[in-house]
Amino acid sequence: MRVLKFGGSSLRDADGMRRVGQIVKSCGPGAIVVISAVQGVTDSLVSFMSRVRSEEEVQAFVSELRNRHMAILNEVAEDEAVRRAAAEQLNERAVRLERILYGITYLEEITPRTKDLVQSFGERMSVVLLAAHLNCIDVKAVPMDADRIGIVTDGTFGSAMADLEASKPAALRLREPVERGEVPVVTGFFGRGPHGFVTLFGRNGTDYSAAVVASITSAGSLEIWKDVDGFMSADPRIVPDAVPIERLSYDEAAELSYFGAKVLHPRTVEPVRASGTVIRLLNVFRPEAPGTFIGPEGDAAQGLIKSISCMSGMAMIKAYGGGLGSKTGVMVDVSGQLSAAGVNIFSAATSQTCISLLVDGRDLDRAEAALSRVGHSVGRVEMSRGLSLLCLVGEGLAGREAVASKVLGAVAGLGVNVSMISAGASTAALQFTVADEDLVRTVRTVHEGFFGG
Ligand code: ADP
Ligand code: ASP
Ligand code: MG
Repeated sequence: MRVLKFGGSSLRDADGMRRVGQIVKSCGPGAIVVISAVQGVTDSLVSFMSRVRSEEEVQAFVSELRNRHMAILNEVAEDEAVRRAAAEQLNERAVRLERILYGITYLEEITPRTKDLVQSFGERMSVVLLAAHLNCIDVKAVPMDADRIGIVTDGTFGSAMADLEASKPAALRLREPVERGEVPVVTGFFGRGPHGFVTLFGRNGTDYSAAVVASITSAGSLEIWKDVDGFMSADPRIVPDAVPIERLSYDEAAELSYFGAKVLHPRTVEPVRASGTVIRLLNVFRPEAPGTFIGPEGDAAQGLIKSISCMSGMAMIKAYGGGLGSKTGVMVDVSGQLSAAGVNIFSAATSQTCISLLVDGRDLDRAEAALSRVGHSVGRVEMSRGLSLLCLVGEGLAGREAVASKVLGAVAGLGVNVSMISAGASTAALQFTVADEDLVRTVRTVHEGFFGG
């Protein structure tokens, strides 16, 4: 069994659908396909729910969404019977979405539960399109909704984790069509919580969905198809000279994506690590290119640093208090309060008088409120926004002092101020922060230092 994942960037339009169709066709029997919404659709669902809308707005929105999908369908499904059946399915889904959105209008309330449900409709519509196209190019395919086949989550709205054990029965439902010679085209991005409601895996969650499907079906490989040549040495939008990486370990891929490499959902390696399923990142525009291989072992021959990732819009919290560093339980209390408020700590450092924490800038207000609930004697709290976190990743990198001095030397030459450095959290990563406005030139300079210009 092979699991293939295609994201919104590969499913932009009819040409994208056809490209994906050819890749699935060339794969032969035994494939399971997991896909995202058509590019931009999730964004439009998110922004539509930024406030309560009028009935007219709902009508216009759903009609535009329906038309966009119908236009692609008309281009990619030449067989009239297939096209008609798919149009009916699309229509049913659009009507259901419209009713849910009217519900929001009448109740004047947007809850985390309805947000997740509404966002799932991008994927519910795209699977109908791709399955129809495949059926028209002699690949028997059937669209499947992850919540209906039983991909079970922990129930956290907006950022759920999959419950692999509880999702096992879904493997049987996926195998049935495969055994009949059909390709299941499964919705990514969401599953069903133990409470029965739709829950999302977070933005870009289809990479993770595909890993979940690969894990429960014990697939031999997971192919994640993108619009780039694989995992690159840096975000190619920031560093045009970035080069593809041949091989990464699970840890390296996990660190890079956790610290901002947008190419892969941060939790993608978790489900496949236990089963040892290898991941290949491939390019839909150049299927013959080797791409990136992600498995248990990295590749020491490739140089110490594999890639540089970064996140902007971070914020630093400094909590001061006499003897904070030596009081037992302070960090437990601080991290407990922040975690209860849903605030993720990306880096932390303590001294005798201060605790420094790096968090997402969007979480700062919640973090401040959470810190006021800390039982220990935290005095003054200082917050600063506008920081970027850079993360250099390579197995064994943290043990090499020469790397840190090379990086910091290059950064110092730019006159950039470094405010927090951490090399101990993992053997695979070295991180530091700079001001947001220094991010691009810092990433480019560090990249040039290790990979050449
Ligand atoms: P999909 O829609 O297929 O999931 P994404 O747009 O989410 O694709 O991810 C692919 C994009 O990630 C690339 O087009 C690239 O711009 C960006 N990206 C960021 N960091 C990296 C990196 N280190 N390597 C490759 N691509 C990266
Ligand atoms: N469609 C979802 C998103 O835009 C999931 C994904 O693309 O992986 O975030
Ligand atoms: Mg993505």
